[in-house]
Amino acid sequence: MMETKRTKIAALLKSSEIDVNVVAKGWVRTKRGNKNVSFIALNDGSSINSIQVVADPGLIGEETLKNITTGASISVTGKLVASQGAGQSVEITAEAIEVLGVADPEKYPLQPKKHSLEFLREIAHLRPRTNTFSAIFRMRHAMSFAVHQFFNEKGFYYWHTPFVTGSDAEGAGEMFRVSTLDPINPPLNDDGTVDHSQDFFGKETNLTVSGQLEGELGAMALGDIYTFGPTFRAENSNTTRHLAEFWMIEPEMAFYDLTDNMDLAEEFLKYLVAYALENCADDLEFLEKRLLDEEKNKPAVERNDMSLTEKLRFVMENDFERLSYTEAIQILRNSKPNKKGKFQFPIDGWGADLQSEHERYLVEKHFKKPVILTDYPKDIKAFYMRMNDDGKTVGAMDILFPGIGEIVGGSQREERLDVLTDRMAEMNIPEEELDWYLDTRRFGTAPHSGFGLGFERLMIFVTGMGNIRDVIPFPRTPGSAAF
Ligand code: ATP
Ligand code: MN
Repeated sequence: MMETKRTKIAALLKSSEIDVNVVAKGWVRTKRGNKNVSFIALNDGSSINSIQVVADPGLIGEETLKNITTGASISVTGKLVASQGAGQSVEITAEAIEVLGVADPEKYPLQPKKHSLEFLREIAHLRPRTNTFSAIFRMRHAMSFAVHQFFNEKGFYYWHTPFVTGSDAEGAGEMFRVSTLDPINPPLNDDGTVDHSQDFFGKETNLTVSGQLEGELGAMALGDIYTFGPTFRAENSNTTRHLAEFWMIEPEMAFYDLTDNMDLAEEFLKYLVAYALENCADDLEFLEKRLLDEEKNKPAVERNDMSLTEKLRFVMENDFERLSYTEAIQILRNSKPNKKGKFQFPIDGWGADLQSEHERYLVEKHFKKPVILTDYPKDIKAFYMRMNDDGKTVGAMDILFPGIGEIVGGSQREERLDVLTDRMAEMNIPEEELDWYLDTRRFGTAPHSGFGLGFERLMIFVTGMGNIRDVIPFPRTPGSAAF
């Protein structure tokens, strides 16, 4: 007999070739039926949809069927036929089933009922087998692919920046140390401090908080580059929007001013959302229903008036509102929640950093669409942002999204050596530390810009999930690094 090769279930469900022999392999979601017939829902992760396997106990054998329980892995050989039942167009009539791996029903914790997201976070192997998480992680793949496709189509180069960094210019106090020194008995200098000259790299090193500074070197040679990699922040922000380890996309473009930068970021976000709508329809449909169910349990005032796909379409089809920090402060100062003392951090003067509550007010209540804020006070932004002519503000731009707040942070970079070194002196950043970086301003400097998009914040938006821990396979947060 000629051996039939395995076909993925996503392909079988789409197949128009009926009455052919097929092999499907996957994990059993459910089994129901009676002594005359068994219906097995089989899922292999290739689609949110399972395929129905119809098994005749007489043919397959009682012993085998007994081991076909939720979570077991099986290989099914049979015929792909048009389905009589509702809910699917094709199914497999099993001719033989091999149980590849049993899942003891007494011990298997995933029952065909709804589990809480928190419960699933504790069970590493089961989480991706649920409908919700498999949908999210398939979409995570699709969005990663879309990121690369977008930049590749535009002639950007994927530029790999280091995870281990020797400069702590950006993340003072927020960085994870990297060291091979004995933590109990490290070599010491005469003054009692740790002697890092004996450390692995011969100096103090940390995990990167951003690839930007190294990214700028790429842009000043290759023109347009982007990074897409893990980013580490030891900030103790136990929020639904912060991870200690997250993925960031950081494009950096030579000869771009702030407007070019905003145009690119807006086009990029719209492209990603359009890609999700076009390529992740089945998973989105599932996640949209999940969200609707969840919203039913919320008080009416907290409910979203838009469904997930409506929200995505809305972002794709509307221009983002662009305004300056100064204009935003005016709006916030005169806003109802500010006057009624509803903000946890009231807005009175110019110069304060905006909190997530302010960002979300602007997006969700005032403009009711994504907002790009520009020209922030220099004192609340990084040293490398380009000084405006007013001497008070810098060419920054943050993109604020509904339900999230800041999703993108970017700026035009300070390309003038003297202005840049003055800023560094003001902020006590030693020039020697960044000599390699300052060289781009010494030799052939040019206007340039870039931004950072937190990949998981994008994933929260496109999946409608409420917690950033639920859009990454292995979340790292303060106090938690399981698995
Ligand atoms: P926030 O104020 O929300 O903490 P940030 O100003 O520290 O953000 P940037 O340093 O500008 O953020 O980083 C660029 C982008 O990276 C942010 O716009 C956001 O999308 C994402 N980001 C920043 N910190 C985190 C984090 N801890 N977890 C996940 N994403 C993050
Ligand atoms: Mn932060």
